[in-house]
Amino acid sequence: MTHAYPFLSAEQKKELSGIAQRIVAAGKGILAADESTGSMAKRFQGINTENTEENRRLYRQLLFTADDQVNACIGGVIFFHETLYQKTDDGKPFALLVKERGMVVGIKVDKGVVPLAGTNGETTTQGLDGLYERCAQYKKDGADFAKWRCVLKITDTTPSELAIMENANVLARYASICQMHGIVPIVEPEILPDGDHDLQRCQYVTEKVLAAVYKALSDHHVYLEGTLLKPNMVTAGHSCPRKYSAQEIAMATVSALRRTVPPAVPGVTFLSGGQSEAEATANLNAINQCALHRPWALTFSYGRALQASALKAWGGKKENGKACQEEYVRRALDNSKAALGKYVSSGEKGASAQESLFVADHAY
Ligand code: 13P
Repeated sequence: MTHAYPFLSAEQKKELSGIAQRIVAAGKGILAADESTGSMAKRFQGINTENTEENRRLYRQLLFTADDQVNACIGGVIFFHETLYQKTDDGKPFALLVKERGMVVGIKVDKGVVPLAGTNGETTTQGLDGLYERCAQYKKDGADFAKWRCVLKITDTTPSELAIMENANVLARYASICQMHGIVPIVEPEILPDGDHDLQRCQYVTEKVLAAVYKALSDHHVYLEGTLLKPNMVTAGHSCPRKYSAQEIAMATVSALRRTVPPAVPGVTFLSGGQSEAEATANLNAINQCALHRPWALTFSYGRALQASALKAWGGKKENGKACQEEYVRRALDNSKAALGKYVSSGEKGASAQESLFVADHAY
């Protein structure tokens, strides 16, 4: 039996759990704006905009300066490294601006997925080297939470035991490093929606993956009250011929979480994973209306499902800045209501609200 040598003081624990709770306060979720430069290239390609540092700054400035209505909807914003050091037109650091609006600043700290040798195309995530030092610096530079994304795939032969174990362990190692520096780790084991598997298969795999993640977090002495989980919703594969209702997705998702995620975890912040904006909102709302007891906040940490219509409305043109912000504010307000189970659909008029945002083998 291992012996626990405490590594966090009472004050450190209080700080971590306080940060986590602020991010997932009632009606709040996360804006995932941490697309890597490579992911931004793909997003900008879709709107015929050149992927320059200045265009990335201009676009993110629009998100971060959107109407004050979003203050009650967005508890945290995840930045990419470059964005953490960018400023508004009048010289205010984005991190300071976001903080002044009452949102917690987060930073993507992983360095992307790499192949896991001897598997059927599975991956692990790199970025542990130097992470201890990077976290110390990011904390000084205003970040209070972090994100690390691991990826698992559903096929007839995957996820393998090796991929489940390796990804759970690297997430736990990352989480413990973050906590030593007063940074709340968002633990993200994303199971991709690629494939034709049904809802039950996704639920089974999600339960196995989450069970392994929480065993590893326990083994690494991670303080669960100072963490957040960012999972996929339990959905059928993108090419599954059978379509499931939001209520079926909600029941499968909440059941999987109840079987694997300790109540000590303050919040579960779902990724949108290629769902359309409309689906991501409807499913989150159904999850929060599900009749099963839910001991955690269940909310959003969306990238594509908060930004697709906004990006499209902007189209890389200065004169469309206001339209871009209006689309983003609309998504934030709808998802805030969904996080409370109080969303009522108004017919979805967004520029791409119904459009599938699925990207095969999605990288971030
Ligand atoms: P999507 O909501 O676009 O899936 O992205 C969220 C995210 O941060 C993935 O790591």
